[in-house]
Amino acid sequence: QEDLFKNVVSHAKEYGFIFPSSEIYDGLSAVYDYAQNGVELKKNIREYWWKAMVQMNDNIVGLDSSILMHPTTWKASGHVDAFNDPLIDNKDSKRRYRADVLIEDYAEKLNQKAIKEIEKARIRFGEAFNEAEFISTNARVIEYKSREREILERMGRSLGNEDLEDVKALIEELEIACPESGSRNWTEVRQFNLMFGTKLGASSDTAMDLYLRPETAQGIFVNFLNVQKSGRMKVPFGIAQTGKAFRNEIVARQFIFRMREFEQMEMQFFVRPGEEMKHYEFWKEARLKWHLSLGLGRENYRFHDHEKLAHYANAAADIEFNFPFGFKELEGIHSRTDFDLKAHEQFSGRKLQYFDAELNQNYVPYVVETSVGLDRMFLAVFATSLKEETLEDGSTRTVLKLPSVLAPTKAAVLPLVKKDGLPEIAHKIIEDLKWDFNVAYDEKDAVGRRYRRQDALGTPFCITVDHQTIEDQTVTIRHRDTMKQDRVSISDLKSIIEDEVAM
Ligand code: ATP
Repeated sequence: QEDLFKNVVSHAKEYGFIFPSSEIYDGLSAVYDYAQNGVELKKNIREYWWKAMVQMNDNIVGLDSSILMHPTTWKASGHVDAFNDPLIDNKDSKRRYRADVLIEDYAEKLNQKAIKEIEKARIRFGEAFNEAEFISTNARVIEYKSREREILERMGRSLGNEDLEDVKALIEELEIACPESGSRNWTEVRQFNLMFGTKLGASSDTAMDLYLRPETAQGIFVNFLNVQKSGRMKVPFGIAQTGKAFRNEIVARQFIFRMREFEQMEMQFFVRPGEEMKHYEFWKEARLKWHLSLGLGRENYRFHDHEKLAHYANAAADIEFNFPFGFKELEGIHSRTDFDLKAHEQFSGRKLQYFDAELNQNYVPYVVETSVGLDRMFLAVFATSLKEETLEDGSTRTVLKLPSVLAPTKAAVLPLVKKDGLPEIAHKIIEDLKWDFNVAYDEKDAVGRRYRRQDALGTPFCITVDHQTIEDQTVTIRHRDTMKQDRVSISDLKSIIEDEVAM
């Protein structure tokens, strides 16, 4: 698994998807840049989300609010007082951890142990069924699973009550339970605010302290009534937004999974008070379906219903994804009640109420939120698509089996040789296709090597122009995943590609 993850990081760099930020200065920790292919993949994921949210739902509209907001926003939202992560240092290793992430890692270890037991049993019982072994395996699996649950529940309770002593005690117990570590030299657990501060204004005495937004949601809440009125929206309705958010994360590892500057895709759905659970259940399912539509495999997703709820929520669940380092949060679905709108009413002194003509009643709507990290989506898609395949002749190929709809380049056009007028025909094909798709041209190296390069970039189609093309206006089209080649007419290319890559 660790090797797989290293491959993901190096493939992303080598093929122009992701670079460390300001690399010539040795980079900036947990900040990354999207390169020529990465930016296309990221844009396509964003569009795939936007289309499903805004274009396909006539009661959801978009918004692009600013990153800088009036500082009182963050007082009202609770971020100034409560947007903290519990931080703990190990005095021996001098390493700093986010206490809850550390505990979740231990819990995940137990989950992995349970999975291994089941796998081992499957292999053994395939050979000979032994009831005694079956019973003892089952007992071990149940033990691991219930310990995992117990750890997470206890952590949830302690963090919910801000019982930081108990968080520390739990970490110490887990260290002992995992003999490979066994150091108990921890500092106290402290709360650390994750917001980045900055200043607005030129002179130091009149400058105003601002924050870079830690979530896009608040830009939606403060615009709620503007959008509702100008768009004549009727509850239930939603506002969707994608954009940058900033968090001064304590643990900065795992590549683009946890960054200090990242992008969110959020939708806030405004509903009648008392009807929020119905909408919450609807959006949980709808969001899972959206993820499954990409075809990365049902087994890679699971729900995690929260026991510990944030101060604003009355129900919350994560969609977790099986990343190269285990199941982790990909998206959050939260029933946020009327907490945010009420808080903004209180702090701004303005009414944020909706008149429901059907009920003949004014109220502050309840909110159900779906919030997914664009960069985490990128990592999920990219890591799961990267495959090392052994071919029939024993050779291997690296192929990035991206969902075609998300691939940065949809087709590469390759003249078999660099002469006899073949490059000119290839360029002519590109001229026709580029209005509809991202297409690339490549004439360097033998055609087999060019195929491999496009495989590694995730390009679904390679179109090869050869001498027969001059005679009958046909080309070969090679499919990335099957490597099958068909002879087709140039005039059919557009519809063949369209069928495969349309959103
Ligand atoms: P975590 O527990 O992993 O820190 P969170 O519960 O704080 O995440 P939310 O506040 O619910 O995350 O944010 C919604 C989504 O934004 C997350 O599901 C995740 O996909 C994404 N996200 C949050 N923090 C980061 C980050 N530092 N880097 C990349 N994506 C992030």
